[in-house]
Amino acid sequence: MPVTDQRTPCRGKQRPRQAVRVTVPRVDPGRRRAFRRRLLVWYRRCRRDLPWRRTSDPYHILVSEIMLQQTQVDRVIPKYREFLTRYPSLEDLARARVDEVREAWYPLGYNVRPYRLHAIARQAIRRHGGRIPDDPAVLLRMKGIGRYTAGAILSFAYRKDAPVVDTNVRRVLRRVFLGVRRSATESTFWTMAAELLPRGGAYDYNPALMDFGATVCTARRPACPACPLRRQCASFPALSVISNGSGSSGRGSRGAVRAPPGP
Ligand code: SF4
Repeated sequence: MPVTDQRTPCRGKQRPRQAVRVTVPRVDPGRRRAFRRRLLVWYRRCRRDLPWRRTSDPYHILVSEIMLQQTQVDRVIPKYREFLTRYPSLEDLARARVDEVREAWYPLGYNVRPYRLHAIARQAIRRHGGRIPDDPAVLLRMKGIGRYTAGAILSFAYRKDAPVVDTNVRRVLRRVFLGVRRSATESTFWTMAAELLPRGGAYDYNPALMDFGATVCTARRPACPACPLRRQCASFPALSVISNGSGSSGRGSRGAVRAPPGP
């Protein structure tokens, strides 16, 4: 279990001087269970109502995840709906001309994404029987699908126990299990995320962690005083100083899926 030096005051937005890198911390089963339970209770009450949460169509999940890369949720929602009206199926997208797909993407930006999405659709049609694969190794061999996107497709579309680690998830795991003065390698975060997954529960647990990081444990103003995880959190009360008691209630839709890093 990580040790937090709670005598060290948080210095506002200043980063900790030298984050100590750690290997995968051992989280005792009781703390792990309490973390999941509290997170899921919070999620049932405060989950964000997002259009891609109402589907388990792997193609729709893929489109949403590619669109959400480095883009605010609020900007993605109308484009997601418009894009799926124009290309309702994987076949429709694969049949389209790539320059048309590029135009349909406007004004989302980060313009390599429509090309990648189009290439994935064609590859799925040609090599995978017209469907997005549900095998992690096969998914990861597809150009444009990384570990995060594969985890999102597997857990949201196929309800498999696959972890996801994005900026929000990484921040929550770091603050809760390592504390403000510790950090870890990317592979350590993936191992932690996998170890914390409740068996058979990734479908709810993954978006709960992402929503929590986007709306409560935010980069700049975490809502520590009212946080349901504060008893499990290695960064509490140190981060309460910057939260100023006025963070999000967790009911809003602010926060990017790929938010900027914080302490
Ligand atoms: S107590 Fe603060 S830092 Fe810890 S999980 Fe809650 S909001 Fe995040």
